[in-house]
Amino acid sequence: MEFGTIASGSSGNCLYVGSGSTHLLVDAGVSCKKVLAGLSAFGVDGSDIQAILVTHEHSDHISGIGVLSRKYHIPVYTTHQTAVAIQRSRSLGDLSRSEFFAIEPGRPFEIGDICIDAFSIPHDAVDPVSYTFEHGGCKIGTVTDLGYYNDEIIHNLENSDLLYVEANHDIRMLQAGPYPYPLKQRILGNYGHLCNEMSGRLIALLHNDRLKHVILGHLSKENNYPDLALETVILEAYGGRASTNPDIFVAPRDTASALVTL
Ligand SMILES: [Zn+2]
Ligand SMILES: [Zn+2]
Repeated sequence: MEFGTIASGSSGNCLYVGSGSTHLLVDAGVSCKKVLAGLSAFGVDGSDIQAILVTHEHSDHISGIGVLSRKYHIPVYTTHQTAVAIQRSRSLGDLSRSEFFAIEPGRPFEIGDICIDAFSIPHDAVDPVSYTFEHGGCKIGTVTDLGYYNDEIIHNLENSDLLYVEANHDIRMLQAGPYPYPLKQRILGNYGHLCNEMSGRLIALLHNDRLKHVILGHLSKENNYPDLALETVILEAYGGRASTNPDIFVAPRDTASALVTL
C-alpha cells in the first residue's frame, strides 16, 4: 500500500491512500489545484481517484470536494448526517451532480481492492469519523480532529503498519496564545483536538512490532511547531529512546509529504 499527505493542518487536509490499482483520497480541504499538485508528486492523476472519503463537514476537510468531484466524477463517501451537512453548505457550489454514498461506522466496505472501515470520533461536527484501510495484509490507521481517545478508537487503530495521528497543539502555546477564550476552550475540550502529549500517549498505546511508520498531522499553525510536536510525541510515546521508534515524521502543512510504501 501507499500513503501520503497532500495537505495537513488547520488550514486544509487531504490524504492519499493507494494500493497500486485503487486510489483514494481522505478529505479534500484544499483547492482542486493543490490536490492535483500533490497527487502528481505521487505519480497519480485526478482521473485515477475512485473515491473521496470525508471525515466531517468542517471546511478544512471539504472545501475542495465540490470542484474535484464534479471535474472527475468522483463519488463522495461519508456518513448520512455528514452528507446532509455538506450538501447544505453553499460554499461548495452545486453538489447535485456529485454522487454521495452513505457509510456507517463499524460496517467495513470495499473500494477496488482496499477494505475500509470507519469509526466514530469525539469532535464538534454532526457525525465525525476516521478511517482505517487494509490491503494485502497491510493496515493504515488515520485519526485527526478528536478531543480525546477511548478504547473503541484504540481498538480500531490497533495493529496498523502505518499511523497518521493528530498532534494539534502544545497546551502551553495555546493557553498563552492570541486565540479568544471560547476558541481555546473548544480546542482543549472533549470535542476539540489532541494536544502533542495526548498524541504521544495514544501512539504509545498503539505501539507494537508491526508499527513501522508514524506520521503526525493536523498541526495548528499558531499553537505548535513541527519540532516541538515531534520531540513531545517521541518523549511521551518512547521515553525519548530513538532506537525503539518507528519511522516518525510531521506531515508538511501545504505540500505533499514523502510517499510511504508498505
Ligand atoms: Zn474539525
Ligand atoms: Zn480539521
